[in-house]
Amino acid sequence: MARIKSKRTKSSASVSQKDTQHRVCQHQGRVVTRFGAELIVLNEENQHIRCTARRKFENIACGDYVCWQHSEQGNSIVTSILPRKNALTRPDYRGKPKAIAANIDQIIIVCSWLPKPAWMLVDQYIIAAQSIGADALIVMNKSDLAEQYATEKDWQAIKDYESIGYPVIQAVAKTDVNIDKIQQSLANKTSIFVGQSGVGKSSIIGQVLPELDIKVGEISQSGEGKHTTTTADLYSVNSGGYVIDSPGVRDFALADVDAGGIRQGYREFDDYAKLCRFNNCTHVHEPKCQVKQAVESQDIPQGRYRRYLAKLELIESE
Ligand code: GDP
Ligand code: ZN
Repeated sequence: MARIKSKRTKSSASVSQKDTQHRVCQHQGRVVTRFGAELIVLNEENQHIRCTARRKFENIACGDYVCWQHSEQGNSIVTSILPRKNALTRPDYRGKPKAIAANIDQIIIVCSWLPKPAWMLVDQYIIAAQSIGADALIVMNKSDLAEQYATEKDWQAIKDYESIGYPVIQAVAKTDVNIDKIQQSLANKTSIFVGQSGVGKSSIIGQVLPELDIKVGEISQSGEGKHTTTTADLYSVNSGGYVIDSPGVRDFALADVDAGGIRQGYREFDDYAKLCRFNNCTHVHEPKCQVKQAVESQDIPQGRYRRYLAKLELIESE
C-alpha cells in the first residue's frame, strides 16, 4: 500500500492527521446505507465495502459519492465526500436539516385511482423536483380501476402533465402492466419513488427490484443491522441505474418553498413569464400578465394555474 506522504515526515503526526492531509482519492464509491458511524459503500467493482466515517462526516447520506481507503488498522475508512448534486433533508431531533438521500436525478411520483389522485400533491412533488434539479415522472398505478373511478377532470390533469413535458406511465403493479416501462425509466440515473400511502409504491418497488436481496440492511452480524436510523438504502438496477428507498424517502415532505420556488415548479409559465410587463410578475393580479393571458387562451392548462393559485393560498384547493 502506498505510504501517505506528509510534509511533516519527521514529526510524529498522528495517523488521523496524515489521513486528513491525504487529498488523493484512493478509491471511489457510493454510500449504500449507514448505521451511525458505519457505512456500506459500493465500490467500483460493485462490491459492498464496510467503512467507518469520522464524526465530521456526520451529514453523509445514502447516495453520496465518497473517497475511501484501507486504513493501517485493517478496516476501511471514508476520507472525503465528493460534491453533491442535491440532497433530500429532514429535520433531526434538534430541528437541523439532515440529509437522508443524496444525488437524486429523478423523482417518480406514484398516484392511483383509489386512493384518488391528489393533483395538488403531484404538483407539490414537481415543485420539489424542480427545486433540487431532478426530473419528475408520474406513474398512474391501478389502471385496472380507471374505468370505475377516473373522472373527466382526472384525465384532463394527466393530459396537462404530458403536454408540459412530464411523462405519465399508466401501470398495474398487481398484474405487471407497464412495469417494464418504469424499469426502463430507471436506467443510468438515481431515482426515488414518492406518493401517498396506498397508491402501490411497495408493489411497484417490489416489481422493479425483484432481487431485493441485494439490500444490505442486514449485513451487520453484530445486531446493528436493524434499521435504527432515518437514512435510506441504495439499490442497483440491472439497467445501470439506482433506486434510493426508505419509508422516509417515500413520503418526504417538501421543505418550505417560497412563492418564487412555487413559481419555478410551474415551468410551463416560463416562456410567457419572460414577456410579462414586470419581471417579478407573480401572475396573479398584475396587468398585462402574459401567463394569465396564456391561461385564458388555454395555452397554459387551467387546472395547473388554479393549483398554482391554491398553492399560493389565494384560492381554496379543489
Ligand atoms: P404503498 O402504500 O404506496 O406502498 O402501496 P402498496 O404497494 O402497499 O399497495 C396498497 C394496496 O394497493 C395493496 O392492497 C395492493 O395490493 C394494492 N395495489 C397495488 N397495485 C395495484 C394495482 O395495480 N391495482 C390494484 N387494483 N391494486 C393494487
Ligand atoms: Zn405574469
